[in-house]
Amino acid sequence: MQGFSTRAIHSGQEPDPTTGAVILPIHTSSTFAQDGVGGTRGGYEYSRSANPTRTALQDCLAALEGGRHAHAFGSGMGATDTLLRILLRPGDHMVIPHDAYGGTFRLVDKVLSGWGVEYTAVDLGDLDALRAALRPSTKVIWCETPTNPLLGVADIAGLAEVAHGVSSPHPPRLVVDNTFASPYLQTPLALGADVVLHSTTKYVGGHSDAVGGALVTSDDELAERITFTQNSVGSVPGPFDAYLTLRGAKTLAVRMERHSDNAERVVELLSAHPGVSSVLYPGLPGHPGHEVAAKQMRRFGGMVSFLAAGGRDAALKICATTKLFTLAESLGGVESLIEHPGQMTHASVAGSMLEVPDSLVRLSVGIEDVDDLLDDLRTALDAAGA
Ligand SMILES: *Cc1c(COP(=O)(O)O)cnc(C)c1O
Repeated sequence: MQGFSTRAIHSGQEPDPTTGAVILPIHTSSTFAQDGVGGTRGGYEYSRSANPTRTALQDCLAALEGGRHAHAFGSGMGATDTLLRILLRPGDHMVIPHDAYGGTFRLVDKVLSGWGVEYTAVDLGDLDALRAALRPSTKVIWCETPTNPLLGVADIAGLAEVAHGVSSPHPPRLVVDNTFASPYLQTPLALGADVVLHSTTKYVGGHSDAVGGALVTSDDELAERITFTQNSVGSVPGPFDAYLTLRGAKTLAVRMERHSDNAERVVELLSAHPGVSSVLYPGLPGHPGHEVAAKQMRRFGGMVSFLAAGGRDAALKICATTKLFTLAESLGGVESLIEHPGQMTHASVAGSMLEVPDSLVRLSVGIEDVDDLLDDLRTALDAAGA
């Protein structure tokens, strides 16, 4: 197999046969001329069903995750919804991480529950807890690793063993949300996952300028059902967003290396600063998931969370003081972001099992010059401690 960056730059992206253009055109056409009734020229009819720019992105994503099929969506949540419509029926049960992405939890807890779908939230770092939560009706085990915003780690190969060890005509499928790691750092299909999900809005796109999602699988029958259901519900990306995501993916490897380098330096600073009581990063030897992360990830990525020693007020002050770290939700872009999960991304889950400590600060460490990032953080930490 070719190396990661070679696949990122070339998979699905041959020079245009009619013009020789090295870069794939953004095919804005919603419809495609047909040679005769029922006969297409290039396999395309209508852009909800398929679009050439989207196809190129899908071929690239499949190559990066090592899967046979990829489908690109208008958002990560669109991908999640489409997949769960296929895998779940009324009365079915799914397992979700006790610290699942808030949007995923909301979809399961507030939307799918209305369709008779049941769920159990489990700490997936604990395989015995997972085994105990399984029911005969369990059809999906949903995993995120590392998790948001507490950076917990789950053992993907261990989860796959549990899922596939269930003796049932319809054993549960293991779905891994690989958004935080990106396919450069971790490839869940190779570890036994059935489906990989991405919010490509984050690291794959990488420039905070396009919302998108993806599903990748090597299961031919499931892929056909995804094609059918996506076309039925219409959760597709526009061609311009597909192009931006494909463009971003070309540099994923170099960006992830730099995100990881910068995050490691940020972790060093935070670990030594009196204004920080705890640093959450899977690269730290003291992190409970460190060994598993070291086994299944190439490096540990750009997401870092920490607890402010001065509690909630100090955490808010740090978020209000940084200048280079922009106060904003989302993650995975080239620019550094900071947020207070308790009052921002995770405000809607206050009072639920997903509630996070109010001294928690989450950083998406970007790829700026690291000394500038460290200066910015040090200034904010000192101000919050003063
Ligand atoms: C952002 C995100 C999603 C949802 O993706 P959207 O593109 O915002 O719809 C799902 N999972 C994780 C881990 C995310 O960070």
